[in-house]
Amino acid sequence: MNAPSAPTLHIRRPADGEVLRSVPIVDGDRVRAAAEDLRAAQLAWRDMGPAARATWLRKWRGWILDHTDELTDLLVAETGKVRPDALVETTASCEFISFYADHAKEFLAPERVGAGGLLSLPKRLTRSYRPYPLVGLIIPWNFPITLFLMDAAPALAAGCAVLTKSSEMTPLTCARIIEGWHEIGAPPVLLHVAGAGDTGGAVVEAVDFVQFTGSTATGRRVATRCAQLLKPVSLELGGKDAAIVLEDADLDRAAHGIVWGGIFNSGQVCISVERVYVVDAVYDRFVEKVVAALGALKQGCRARDDVGAMVTRAQVDTVERHVREAQESGARVLVGGSRGDEGNFFAPTLLVDVDHSMACMTEETFGPTLPVMRVADEAEAVALANDSAYGLSATVWTRDVSRGRRIADQLEVGAVNINDVFSNLFAVGLPHSGWKSSGLGARLGGAQGLRKYCRVQAITEPRIPLTTKELTWYPYSARRTAIAGRVLRLAAGRGLRQRLGL
Ligand code: NAD
Repeated sequence: MNAPSAPTLHIRRPADGEVLRSVPIVDGDRVRAAAEDLRAAQLAWRDMGPAARATWLRKWRGWILDHTDELTDLLVAETGKVRPDALVETTASCEFISFYADHAKEFLAPERVGAGGLLSLPKRLTRSYRPYPLVGLIIPWNFPITLFLMDAAPALAAGCAVLTKSSEMTPLTCARIIEGWHEIGAPPVLLHVAGAGDTGGAVVEAVDFVQFTGSTATGRRVATRCAQLLKPVSLELGGKDAAIVLEDADLDRAAHGIVWGGIFNSGQVCISVERVYVVDAVYDRFVEKVVAALGALKQGCRARDDVGAMVTRAQVDTVERHVREAQESGARVLVGGSRGDEGNFFAPTLLVDVDHSMACMTEETFGPTLPVMRVADEAEAVALANDSAYGLSATVWTRDVSRGRRIADQLEVGAVNINDVFSNLFAVGLPHSGWKSSGLGARLGGAQGLRKYCRVQAITEPRIPLTTKELTWYPYSARRTAIAGRVLRLAAGRGLRQRLGL
């Protein structure tokens, strides 16, 4: 009798449903063994310091760029992206490696801290950044490379080992990039495990810090488990990003930007434009321009196509349901509106006459649809944009940038792009964070993006000649307590605090 074969993931090409490759699922025991190996290797990785780690990171970046064609082909095959969308991932994501390789030494340098109070005046105070030994990255299927490198680069640069579980739908390109790490002979501090929720759950148990990117529902489960384990977790979750088009907007720019923001990667971007509010004065002209721009897009998997397939059939079903339910409630489809005959295609779609009673305006669609709603004015647009459980990002379209900034200040989201889409995503100096049900914590954001992978250690040392009796040591005496009281009373006066620089 044959031994039962190990459970396997069958990775299908979204463009035609054919099985591309089968990959064994990594079970809990193997996740634990991988974690042990990584922990052992991390000690030397931590001790080699940021400059030596940066050398390995740059070699890895070189390997990725040398293998761009191979990686892009694989990414197109397993995700159904069109080639230009895939190339954004395989090339632009190297920015994250460059940035953290270049700045890790500066970001990890111990920081001198001011005394802050009279009692610590005789001490030298230092804040020191010590890497978590093992970071777990759990990632979704929409950007298998970008969402891996955004976190792997700072975590590795910080001196952590990294255990990565990519999505069960798209494990191939991520696994290949991690093979590249080993091909260049880098220290064995980076491993990939393939599998679904059970494997992800085992990763959560095995690591010291969890960086999760995925749906809000799964994020809640992961956060609950991390709370039980008292384990730090950072969550990048779903979104329902609003675009606000004002009467003074450059309408050509707004229409093209919003079409790109809603349809790029077949709308499977956490910060896709998912709903559009257009003030009455320019609504008709805006819709006309969107009809023209959407209608001109070509869909398929040929080199000349603009819009590819969606990764999963289940996601196409969600998009179809949102469009159908909206139509049943009175919305009109002006462009697209249906799925393809084969493969995971859904036509780029424009919906109008929508409102907040419809799922297409309140739930994450994660597909190539643009529901556009007419609003009276700026105030109504802002109120509707904030009427959401999510708070990832938003866009504002106006020729008056100071007006854009003022509106940004009223929006309950982690990022606002004025007259553009996605521009915060590759701005490594800015944090990428979701508010409300869109997440907890942040990624990137310069030093913050690397220091989140460190535990902060407080160090004090004497800076005046040592005495055998510190003011606050046992045994207390009435005299010393009285002196301490007087000193503290004096210190409460602003004048002395200012003179001492407190
Ligand atoms: P998902 O939540 O279904 O899965 C994400 C990952 O979690 C997968 O690797 C999955 O195997 C794993 N997982 C599932 N159950 C788990 C468990 N119990 N413990 C640990 N891991 C588990 O999400 P998805 O469908 O793959 O991705 C789409 C979602 O991701 C969308 O909601 C999208 O908005 C979101 N997303 C967010 C960002 C962001 O930065 N905010 C970026 C990209 C995607």
